[in-house]
Amino acid sequence: MGTDTHGIKKRGWIGFDLDGTLAHYDGWKHPLHIGDPVVEMVRDVHRILRENTHDIKIFTARVSPECLEWNQGVSKAQIVECIQDWCEEHLFGQRFEVTHEKDGLMKTCYDDRSTQVQCNTGHTLERAVAEAAELISMIGTTGVETTAAFRGARKWLNKFAPTKLDPPYGGMTWEKPPVEPPFTTDPDDPRLHERRADGQSVKFLVLSKEELAKRGFVRPLRRSYVHTTCGATTNIAPVIAETYASDPSFYGLTYCCQCGKPLPVGEFRWTEDGNVVGS
Ligand SMILES: [Zn+2]
Repeated sequence: MGTDTHGIKKRGWIGFDLDGTLAHYDGWKHPLHIGDPVVEMVRDVHRILRENTHDIKIFTARVSPECLEWNQGVSKAQIVECIQDWCEEHLFGQRFEVTHEKDGLMKTCYDDRSTQVQCNTGHTLERAVAEAAELISMIGTTGVETTAAFRGARKWLNKFAPTKLDPPYGGMTWEKPPVEPPFTTDPDDPRLHERRADGQSVKFLVLSKEELAKRGFVRPLRRSYVHTTCGATTNIAPVIAETYASDPSFYGLTYCCQCGKPLPVGEFRWTEDGNVVGS
């Protein structure tokens, strides 16, 4: 609701662009040609009419002075009448006001050429969706923490969500899954023999902190190796690097990220110094 200069409450309005928004648009044909209605938009018009909190206007450049200049012989009145006839036929018998100008009472507009910007921040909806989609697409890839990706995506979408997406998401709940470190110091841990979808072990056997402290390092700490068979470089977790440095022959097999399985350590060389892994 807006207020005019006389203090009388005036209803706000919602603008609907015509070509490409309310009506299918596939290239300019004639000033008095309007495409078929777009079903999804007609539903929104229906909802706004039912809620009856705002007026609806057809917000179109067809009645702007620039467009009228091109309309050889067709008057503004004829164009307005054509649009209103179209509305009457397709939009529940209504003849809406037609304008090309927004004013202070315009609450929002539906337009296929608009970029929605969040008030006073410069954030665009387009960017929020792209950022969120990018974060969600990274879920499941190595090194991306699911919770962090979801949190980041939610942060972007919340900038524009009419109701905040923070839990409980209007009834839905999402709980952070427990994160289990993929390492064990127990040689009898049954999960040492389980494999994830990417071929990595669910659990890797490592030396305990106490054991590492007791033994010390007999080799330099190296963080990646090359599989000489396929040429791929695999980065390893710090605790595995420490285990190798403390006991070079601790592992008989080691994982290649490209081959997707554990292979004999003799097939790998350390990136840092070229020495054969396991020696
Ligand atoms: Zn390989």
